[in-house]
Amino acid sequence: SVAMRQDILDLIERLPKEVQNLLEAVSETAEEEECSVYIVGGFVRDLLLSVPTQDLDFVVEGSGGQFAQALMRRIPDGKLTQHIKFGTAQIIFPDGSHLDIASTRWEHYSFPGALPQVEESCLRDDLFRRDFTINSMAICLNTERFGELVDYYGGKQDLQQRKIRFLHNISFIDDPTRMLRAIRFAERYHFEFAKETLDALHTAIETGVLSKLSVERFTEEVLLIFKEVNYLAMGQILVESGLFKAWFGKELAWNFNLDDAENSRDWSINMRWLVSVSQMKSYEIGTLLERVILNKSLRDETIAYVQLRQSLMERLTISEMDRLLNKAPKEVVIVLARDERFKVRIMECLEAGQRINMSLDGKALLQMGLKQGPEIGEILDRVRMAWLEGRISTLEEEQGMARQWVNTQR
Ligand code: ATP
Repeated sequence: SVAMRQDILDLIERLPKEVQNLLEAVSETAEEEECSVYIVGGFVRDLLLSVPTQDLDFVVEGSGGQFAQALMRRIPDGKLTQHIKFGTAQIIFPDGSHLDIASTRWEHYSFPGALPQVEESCLRDDLFRRDFTINSMAICLNTERFGELVDYYGGKQDLQQRKIRFLHNISFIDDPTRMLRAIRFAERYHFEFAKETLDALHTAIETGVLSKLSVERFTEEVLLIFKEVNYLAMGQILVESGLFKAWFGKELAWNFNLDDAENSRDWSINMRWLVSVSQMKSYEIGTLLERVILNKSLRDETIAYVQLRQSLMERLTISEMDRLLNKAPKEVVIVLARDERFKVRIMECLEAGQRINMSLDGKALLQMGLKQGPEIGEILDRVRMAWLEGRISTLEEEQGMARQWVNTQR
């Protein structure tokens, strides 16, 4: 255990300086406030795995509110929000990152030295409410114990054996989002499920535990998956395990093609989402949209995707196509251009669009004697179409055509 503590100190020393300073500030605050403080959860997991982490979660044995206020004196650029009801506080930094402080007692100031039993059971309870053993470890930050690992549930061993294991067998019933979280962590770190955890996952899916979940929380968890580098593998598991079928009420034609793994690293969340639904029929996407609550941009793009795909099935002139492609969000066009049915036509249209060398603008038309009004836009449109369709290909021809239109307007 002494060796372990030294290992942890070494790992902490390799963290970015700002993070180390923050841990230092928390440590000093704990001494000042005479309470115990721990960093818990994902931070500890990622520290032991030597992978970068963003979130800092602390558990204070003592008054969390008082602790947060004392800590603020050492973090002058932070902004403090307290949630008294939940016994939590959050400090937000100017760059948008934040740290969370949880505590079991809010109002009462405690002296940890006086009540060691109670103190210990508080942290133990807090950690027992967490999702998986690998997320249930804490590191003490008090000066005397700085770097000491608290691991009641075998998290370190599961990290070493690369296992996702829940803390008790009604975990998925208590909170079905953990089913999605389990899949997310397993694929993010290339871990396997412990046998009971896997069995419980399948049982939970079969017995309809998901129905306890709100559409908001489900969507939130799914979109967290789309942010992950390995989201395609996670998506495949969501389909193969039957979890998606249980939620959406039927099998949808999800597209999580591992061949896209390389390219999808640079894709936005919206792009990843659109590619994932691109094999579904329009009515399937309709079913899908009834069972998720997307943010406006993602919802609008999904609908624009279905509509544009529908239009492209029809015969379109190049200028109709040009108008539709220009109107649609860029990501929608990119995803449709991956579709074998539309690829060639979309590329042709975009290339034709690039050959347009239009010099004419509204100002030029005014100088030719046209009055301000809707005709200006119409003529610009018509000239653009002429370029697209190859009816003009030089600036002289463009000028000639514009003059002709202007004359008919006067
Ligand atoms: P990430 O790297 O994805 O942010 P994280 O572990 O930091 O992973 P958070 O969602 O920020 O994930 O949660 C922080 C901690 O809170 C987790 O490590 C876990 O201990 C606990 N936790 C989060 N969600 C749940 C849940 N649904 N049930 C139980 N414990 C949870």
